[in-house]
This record gives sequence, C-alpha cells and structure tokens, in this order.
Amino acid sequence: MSNELVSVNPTTGREIARYKTHSDKQIETALRRSADTFEEWRKMTFAQRATILKNIAKEIRKEKDTLVRLATAEMGKPLAQGHYEVEKCAKTLEFYAKEGAKFLKDEVIKTDARKSYVSYQPLGAVLAIMPWNFPYWQVFRAFAPTVMAGNVMILKHASNVSGCALAIERIILKGGAPKGLLQTLLIPSSRVDALIDDDRIAAVTLTGSTQAGKKVAAAAGRNLKKAVLELGGSDPYVILADADMDKALEIAVRGRLVNSGQSCIAAKRFVVHKAVRKEFEQRFTAAMQAATYGDPTNEQNRIGPMARVDLRDELHDQVLRSTAKGAKLLCGGFVPDMPGAFYPPTVLTNVKKGMPAYDEELFGPVAAIIEAKDDAHALQIANDTVYGLGGGIISRNRAKAEKMAATELQAGNCFVNDFVHSDPLLPFGGIKQSGYGRELGSYGIREFVNIKTVYVK
Ligand code: NDP
Repeated sequence: MSNELVSVNPTTGREIARYKTHSDKQIETALRRSADTFEEWRKMTFAQRATILKNIAKEIRKEKDTLVRLATAEMGKPLAQGHYEVEKCAKTLEFYAKEGAKFLKDEVIKTDARKSYVSYQPLGAVLAIMPWNFPYWQVFRAFAPTVMAGNVMILKHASNVSGCALAIERIILKGGAPKGLLQTLLIPSSRVDALIDDDRIAAVTLTGSTQAGKKVAAAAGRNLKKAVLELGGSDPYVILADADMDKALEIAVRGRLVNSGQSCIAAKRFVVHKAVRKEFEQRFTAAMQAATYGDPTNEQNRIGPMARVDLRDELHDQVLRSTAKGAKLLCGGFVPDMPGAFYPPTVLTNVKKGMPAYDEELFGPVAAIIEAKDDAHALQIANDTVYGLGGGIISRNRAKAEKMAATELQAGNCFVNDFVHSDPLLPFGGIKQSGYGRELGSYGIREFVNIKTVYVK
C-alpha cells in the first residue's frame, strides 16, 4: 500500500504535492489527544466555545484568498464559487456560535418528579469522513454544530484534497482552538474501519457516495455507533406546463452547473411536461452550450474541470451507455482534446428508465431530460429513483407546486421555484439511498448528543 496521498491539479493534470500518510503511532497520538481535549472542551461554557468559533470565522476570512486558490488547485473549483463557499463556512460558524446555546438549552418537562428535564450532552470524538467537492464547506458544516455541542472531531478528508485538509486544521488552531479540537488524519479510506472500531471514536459522519455510505454504516453498525450519512442524489426538477420558462431555465442551468456539476444537490433529472418539453429542450440546450468551460482561475469560465480524470471518464461512460440505449445527445458528450479532467456541458433527452442517465447519479455537467404526460406522471418519474436528497417543482401555481413539494416529492429538501441549496438555518439531509440524519439548523446540532433525561425526586 502506498504511504503517500497525491494531489493532482485537474486543470493541468500535473502533480502538485505528495503527502506522507500518518503512521499508526501518529494516529494513536491523535486519538489520545482527542480524548484529552474532549475532557477539557466539554466542560467549557457555550460562550467560551462560541468565542473560539467566531475567531475561527475571522481567520477563515483573513485567509480567504489562499484557501480558495488551494481548493482550485486541488479540485478545480472556479474562483468565484470558492469565495462563496469559504464565506458560507465563516457564516455557519457564526450562526452556531450565536444559536448553539439556544438549540441545546435544557428542556424542562413537568412530571411527578421535583424536577425533570432533557439535557443535551456531547458524545466525544466524532470522525468526519469528507469529500472533495466542497472541501471546506462539507467539513465546516459538520464541524460547527458538532463542536459547539461540546464534541471534538477527527477529520479524514478525501485523498485528493490533503492540502485543504491540513489548511482546515491550521486555521482552526489559529482561531485559538485547543490542539485536539480538530485533527486531520492523512489516511486512505482502507484505514477508516480500524478508526471506527476504536473505542475513542464515539460517532461518525460521512458525506460522499452511497457506496462509501454503506461501508461506513456497516462499520458503525458493527460497533453500535451513531452515524450521519449525507450521500448521493439524483435530484429531479419537475417543470410543469404553466412554468415561467425564463425562470425555469435560469434555475435549471444554475442548478445543473453548480460546482461544475459536482454537487449532491445539483439538478440532475429534468422531468418536463410534454406541453413545454420542446421549448425547454431548445432553450436549455442553447444555455448549456453557452456556458464556457476551461481554466477555473479565469473568471470568464463558468465551469472548471471535474475533480479527477477517473471521475470524468466514469461520467463519459454513463453518457455513452445512455446514448447506446436510445438517449438523444443534444450537446456536449465528448472528451475534449486538452489536458486535465474537463467535460463539456452536456444535454441528453429522450431519457428512459433502464438508462444510466435515468437510474444513476450523474456527478458532473450532464443533464437528463425526461418527458412526462401529466403532473401525476411527472411525480411518478421524479420519485422513481433510489435517491431522495432534493427536488424542485417549477410552476406559476405556487399553491399547487407547494402541495406537490410538501406531500408528494420523496426527498429531504424540496424547493418550489428555486434550485435546491443548503442554508445554515434549515435542516439538510436525505432519505432512501441518499442517507440518514440531518445536518444544519437545530436538527444538525442535536445529532451527536446524548439526549439525557435528568429526573430529580
Ligand atoms: P467517495 O464516496 O469514494 O469519497 C468520499 C469520502 O469517503 C472520501 O473521504 C473517501 O476517502 C471516503 N471513503 C470512500 N470509501 C470509503 C470506505 N469504504 N470507507 C471509509 N471511507 C471511504 O467519493 P469519490 O471521490 O470516489 O466520488 C465518487 C462518487 O461519489 C461521485 O461520482 C459522486 O457520485 C459521489 N460523491 C458524492 C458527494 C456528495 O456530496 N454527496 C461528494 C463526493 C462524491 P478516499 O478519498 O481516501 O477514498
């Protein structure tokens, strides 16, 4: 087994850096430090923890440029989107610094006791296994509520973003956190099971593929440890016959191309009413073709490369397998003759069940158009997926769309007349093979706590 993790710039295909993986001895030191820090951290007041979270937010803002450029180098994110991501991390730290104490306040419940209440107590060290697509946001989204609740964190980041993983650890220390509050372990995924088995890991949170989710859930289950899983998605956008087409197109293009198409909540399947299918298809294809791809440091480019060549090749294979089964290619669908992991914005129509574009997650700038004969048929197609992360309904009839979103769409995050996005105020997570548990909002901070009943006679 290689004892190095290699970062490759997906824009140029060139190696950026090699990182030596941590030894068993270094992991042991980290786990001990984590346990010691937990004893200290859990006894601190909410106000003390909040001060550190706010300081970390300040440090993030101070180093915004460096952080953004590092992510762009390691996984190809366009610079403007990197700035947005880093700012969102700072805001989320501030959100939990402000609201954390309120979310975890003791809840008095009247019983026959002199006093009875619920007290939210931290669990210990939470192992965070994180992906490369939003290398800062995914980590801070988990970190802010988890540590505000009094836990500590061990980070196992994706193997292609070790530079970002180390930068996160450094920034948290600069913010005045104790050394064991978040420790990065540079290890491949093959060494994660042993960590989950360790008694000093209390719980696990993973954001990544459904495949990785199943493995991590099995390891957590074997140890009876709590797990939160935020996995893949194949978000459907139902475009009804009365949709405002300009708005639908804006949502569709933005929702599909966010992060060069590599987002769990990107718009992936467009389920379009037959009355407007033709118009949507033509205008959407034109808009996708107009989206330029290329060097992510050039602000003119809307999308950068995909994060790795193997991920690009896998996506292209999904496109080829779909067209072989009868999907019609309207634009894109080729591997450009240039270095790096680029893939052009691609639109497939006439997509049917049994094709990868219908059944699988397309984690890149490829959109699938599926025609529906009426509203009920559209909902049936939208829900005909193993995933259940997000979904949208686009219609001028807001009341009808809201009812469909609230009661019919089978997903954790259902939006009307907007693209699905996360907000620190709102819970975020999925159902079915998109995982379980919730991040963000008041729900996120209550995932890794002992909901303790205290009863005083
Ligand atoms: P993975 O799910 O393989 O990687 C995500 C994280 O999980 C990484 O830290 C990875 O580590 C780790 N991991 C992978 N397998 C295991 C395992 N068996 N046990 C413990 N940890 C594990 O994603 P990929 O990078 O391979 O991307 C493949 C697909 O995953 C994408 O095409 C997309 O469908 C989905 N994905 C979804 C994301 C989301 O936001 N929900 C984010 C990223 C990917 P390591 O890098 O060392 O393998």
